[in-house]
Amino acid sequence: MVKVGVLALQGAVIEHIRSIEASGAESVVVKSVNDLAEVDGLILPGGESTAMRKLIDRNRMLAPLQAFAAEGKPMFGTCAGLILLANKLVAYDSAHIASLDATVERNSFGRQVDSFETKLSIKGVAEDFQAVFIRAPHIVEVAAEVEILASHEGRIVMVREDNILGCSFHPELTDDHRITKYFIGMVEESLAKHKNL
Ligand code: GLN
Repeated sequence: MVKVGVLALQGAVIEHIRSIEASGAESVVVKSVNDLAEVDGLILPGGESTAMRKLIDRNRMLAPLQAFAAEGKPMFGTCAGLILLANKLVAYDSAHIASLDATVERNSFGRQVDSFETKLSIKGVAEDFQAVFIRAPHIVEVAAEVEILASHEGRIVMVREDNILGCSFHPELTDDHRITKYFIGMVEESLAKHKNL
């Protein structure tokens, strides 16, 4: 069984842990560099990206997280997690983990719609995924090698670049585990690839 970690410094951790378990993989709460070494793939949850970054620095995890992605191990950022993964942020000089070649804008769905739900068609995952957006970011621009998996009203809300997956919304807040299962599939594929090397 593959081991999927959830970065557990701040944010919606327990919901992802439940979704991983419901999808038939082993979940690991990741709070340190040592925990990170135990997992085959990592989910960066939603929450507040500035607070998460402070805790990443405090726990000396920035370089190890960047190395995890560079080694080809799958990472999935949801909402604030997507912000952590992007290599460019609108109106900020610097990025965080910067392993996804995309420009992301924070809190970009406007004040009047801080939070909303909508059904999304997600390439290779689902035609009718109920997506929960909470003060969500969106993806403004992506590099050529980044695949767009879903858009909402002309805005990109889910992408994949090889081993990196990111979405604007919170897939862990419903009982629909198809996105978590898709990510677990990425983790299984990456493990099989590394065994064959
Ligand atoms: N607005 C948050 C941020 O900028 C993200 C919101 C979320 O993760 N639900 O970090």
